[in-house]
Amino acid sequence: MTETKEILVLPGDGIGTEVVPVAREVMESVARRYDVPLRFTEGLVGGIAIDQTGNPLPGETLAKAVEARAVLLGAVGGPKWDDLPTLQRPERGLLGLRSELALFANLRPALLFAPLAAASSLKPELVADLDILIVRELTGGIYFGEPRGIETVDNERRGFNTYVYSEHEIDRIARVAFDLARKRGGRLCSVDKANVLEVTQLWREVVTRVGGDYPDVALSHMYVDNAGMQLVREPKQFDVMVTGNMFGDILSDVAAMLTGSLGMLPSASLAADGKGLYEPVHGSAPDIAGQDKANPLATILSVAMMFRYSLDAPAAADAIEAAVNAVLDAGYRTGDIARASADVEVRLVGTREMGDQVHKALEELP
Ligand code: NAD
Repeated sequence: MTETKEILVLPGDGIGTEVVPVAREVMESVARRYDVPLRFTEGLVGGIAIDQTGNPLPGETLAKAVEARAVLLGAVGGPKWDDLPTLQRPERGLLGLRSELALFANLRPALLFAPLAAASSLKPELVADLDILIVRELTGGIYFGEPRGIETVDNERRGFNTYVYSEHEIDRIARVAFDLARKRGGRLCSVDKANVLEVTQLWREVVTRVGGDYPDVALSHMYVDNAGMQLVREPKQFDVMVTGNMFGDILSDVAAMLTGSLGMLPSASLAADGKGLYEPVHGSAPDIAGQDKANPLATILSVAMMFRYSLDAPAAADAIEAAVNAVLDAGYRTGDIARASADVEVRLVGTREMGDQVHKALEELP
């Protein structure tokens, strides 16, 4: 009998409270169907946690997160908490979870379901069936390097940050990326700026060395400026990309926009033991919160990633993705992805109805 795994559910704020329950229902029914024994707990994070406990990441939530195999998070933040000092804001809850759980690998797929190709800013033929995975190092690099600050020198202020990576940090993120490439198309592109920055010369050297353990994965290297160009010129040339924190931050957003809508983008952040935090890329969308308008598919696709990367149930993940594709194929759209496409009659639906359609599609899968 497989061990029961603990899942912590953190809806958070705004549309997080609408999309997470829908995704959780999908998760429960897929878990039953594929015999993945799960136990769910809920917790507070973000603005709602500030309102109820005074802390965006209450100790109780953190303790549950440490116990859990995986965390499903909606979104945090909203205008109500915008005036709080930086260290007390809802986002602190999320940053605290990332650092306390040592989530060093951020996985951002840029997946474009063919029925949505018209929503991209690129020509449909360039992006139809796009499937890239960007692996971003999340806990090091220039965002965390010391020393950092603003100082006064010769009566003038100057700002400085330190771009630093140690070999073990590069080694472990490279291994995550090679392992993923091995399970996907077998190609890995490492992105750096090795023509200018010593830290990324070391990056390239270590990634190449790790590549010696993965002879079955085709490794290439690309400078970050070229990678930006190639992502909009011919995105389907990529399978898995791996890069540091800052380059990954920028490139994953570029890749995301190739797919057209924030409401479709899942993400995962993983620790060394396969434990993970899964969340849609979008925020709490205060402009549509509470109106049953939010697209739940980014969160549902985050659940698919959870089955694949933390619960070792790839068949369950495939089923969710196939169901989402079937629902889109049948023309169901939330407002954010409703731009009419020539070959399908669009059926505008709300958050709950979209979830129901995914359920139905799951039941109809062979
Ligand atoms: P946002 O992602 O919340 O919204 C941007 C736009 O996209 C809005 O017009 C929104 O209606 C739309 N949108 C987003 N998700 C959607 C969905 N699932 N379905 C349909 N439409 C969707 O970004 P924002 O407006 O810049 O930020 C709003 C709040 O969310 C802020 O408080 C911000 O700090 C917070 N935020 C949180 C996270 C997170 O929790 N990871 C990420 C980004 C922003």
